[in-house]
Amino acid sequence: MRLSVIGCGYLGAVHAAAMASIGHEVVGIDVDERKIASLSRGEAPFFEPGLQEILTEGIASGRLTFTTDMAAARGAKVHFVGVGTPQQKDGYAADLTYVNAAIDGLLPFLSAGDIVAGKSTVPVGTAAGLAPRVEKTGAVLVWNPEFLREGWAVQDTIDPDRLVVGIGDTGRADVDPAAVLREVYHPSVAKGTPFIVTDLATAELVKVAANAFLATKISFINAMAEIAEVTGADVTQLADAIGHDARIGRRFLGAGIGFGGGCLPKDIRAFSARAEELGRGESVAFLREIDAINLRRRDRAVDLVVDALGGSVFKKNVTVLGAAFKPHSDDIRDSPALDVAVRLHGLGAWVTITDPAALENARRQHPQLNYVEDRDEAIRGADALILVTEWDEYRRQLSPDHASTLTEGRIVVDGRNGLDAGAWRAAGWTYYGMGRP
Ligand code: NAD
Repeated sequence: MRLSVIGCGYLGAVHAAAMASIGHEVVGIDVDERKIASLSRGEAPFFEPGLQEILTEGIASGRLTFTTDMAAARGAKVHFVGVGTPQQKDGYAADLTYVNAAIDGLLPFLSAGDIVAGKSTVPVGTAAGLAPRVEKTGAVLVWNPEFLREGWAVQDTIDPDRLVVGIGDTGRADVDPAAVLREVYHPSVAKGTPFIVTDLATAELVKVAANAFLATKISFINAMAEIAEVTGADVTQLADAIGHDARIGRRFLGAGIGFGGGCLPKDIRAFSARAEELGRGESVAFLREIDAINLRRRDRAVDLVVDALGGSVFKKNVTVLGAAFKPHSDDIRDSPALDVAVRLHGLGAWVTITDPAALENARRQHPQLNYVEDRDEAIRGADALILVTEWDEYRRQLSPDHASTLTEGRIVVDGRNGLDAGAWRAAGWTYYGMGRP
């Protein structure tokens, strides 16, 4: 099937390449000339495992092209819209400028019977507001939220755990958007992946509800970490113990410096803002608390380093292990790791950051910090280490004995509770975890 994908960022570039990999003919369209030039050359503009391979393959097959020219969308049967919906600069609501611009830019190139499938995460009610503009062209608007996890985006796009399509009252008996999208996602449909058809509002809400739930689960365990810290309890044992209850489950119960990235923080804020507009602010008022707990953990990590270094980090060498908001990604949007690094720098520490993928992005955003590509070089001479992104390079592959050969410093702060505390202590390090004695 001929498809267009408007917006080629983390979501769109992966979606375009993944759709080509399952046999479709895809054109990816973006306003960012540099991104399009890089994608057209077959170079992934960001780090995402598996993306480079399907990009190279798609371009070589001739089924995958990229352009800045919206006219290239003409002739596609389904147009996916995956442009950004960041937090507004002066409030918590989502900024819909890019969604509106993408839809308006697309309208002249739509034909009767085309399907416009929104993938961006939008406030509930957005699709219903956009639908009349799309329907004037004879096309139909549906909402098909995206649940991919960065770091697993290719796998999640090709083989998602569920597909959700919101369809409004189109008044068109001749167009069956659910059938068309089943055809688009044919390999998943054939293997029995749940394909859930809802109305527009439900589809929009599914996405923000899922993110609100995940954020709540993380902040819940971080709240328990705060209690553990004043009682001497160990939050990791607590998480293991409650996680055995199948109704609770252990996943997403890792206490640490909390969530960040381009989705959870802005999505829970946009959800609160939308609920306020709808007169139901109290229904999700708890999300403000979830946000506050999350941000407090960054303070806690900084305090741990300060305390560990005797009350001041001034002129102390602190090595920060990680910059990306999570492993297997170079995304630094709202990264708790970088936030902690910047705060330590602000307190006068000599901060050195290392990360397997995100250094270039981090350097661009915070040129004042010292970036060292080589992990061992970064650790050399550190007074304290702080793990803030749980890459395997630090969690599993860095042995405390090896670290001991690189520096005299013997302080390690585990901002992700990802290290083997016993092994580090046994090697002579003073280990500090989050919510652990
Ligand atoms: P991103 O910033 O990486 O990409 C957005 C892209 O849209 C950019 O390349 C930008 O240049 C392009 N764009 C902006 N205006 C445009 C226009 N008028 N025409 C064409 N292109 C335009 O953002 P992202 O992370 O890919 O997120 C996109 C959307 O998907 C957001 O709503 C986000 O919440 C949602 N989402 C993201 C993820 C994720 O993990 N990144 C997962 C699920 C949902």
